[in-house]
Amino acid sequence: MIKKQIKTKKEDIVNYWFFEQMVDEGGLSVDAAEAHERCWRCGCEKRLERCHIIPESLGGKDEPSNFVLLCHRCHIENPNISDPEIMWDWIRAYRVSFYDTFWSILGAKEYEFIYNKSIENEIIDLGIDIDDKLKDFIEINIKELFKEISYHYGHPYLNTATCAGLYRMLIKRIAKEYGKKLPPLDYNRKRTFWGF
Ligand SMILES: [Zn+2]
Repeated sequence: MIKKQIKTKKEDIVNYWFFEQMVDEGGLSVDAAEAHERCWRCGCEKRLERCHIIPESLGGKDEPSNFVLLCHRCHIENPNISDPEIMWDWIRAYRVSFYDTFWSILGAKEYEFIYNKSIENEIIDLGIDIDDKLKDFIEINIKELFKEISYHYGHPYLNTATCAGLYRMLIKRIAKEYGKKLPPLDYNRKRTFWGF
């Protein structure tokens, strides 16, 4: 199937949502002044793509009301679904107050998924106080650790697994610095679906 050329222009999409519909900016990562240059979901400053709210294959129309502007990475991950509210739920759920923190937050979630513990609880369970000394240690070491990770060729972002790995290396450094031992991982733990 040949992909149909989208006729709706990016500026029409910004105008529709930010000047005609007055979408609630409070719940978004961007405001009207930035909506043409920053991804509406993650807030990063990248080339933006027109993303269907209701996919064309499900009857979504080529008109401003059926698009949002997302970076390439968010565009790949967006919900392709016939209920238009889901897109906004998804965009709003990921709202960030500071640009460029978005993917590190996702990295922290990935950490929790892999290691079954939040980064904060990891530190607490080691019996380490979260104080200025620790914060300074983290700041210095995060910078150093950035020399030990790499970007996939052609990908401008660190992927979530790399972020999670970076945090793990940091936790190992913290444990060592404070003379603590990380507990062994339980690879046999059961994951539940729907919580049961
Ligand atoms: Zn994005």
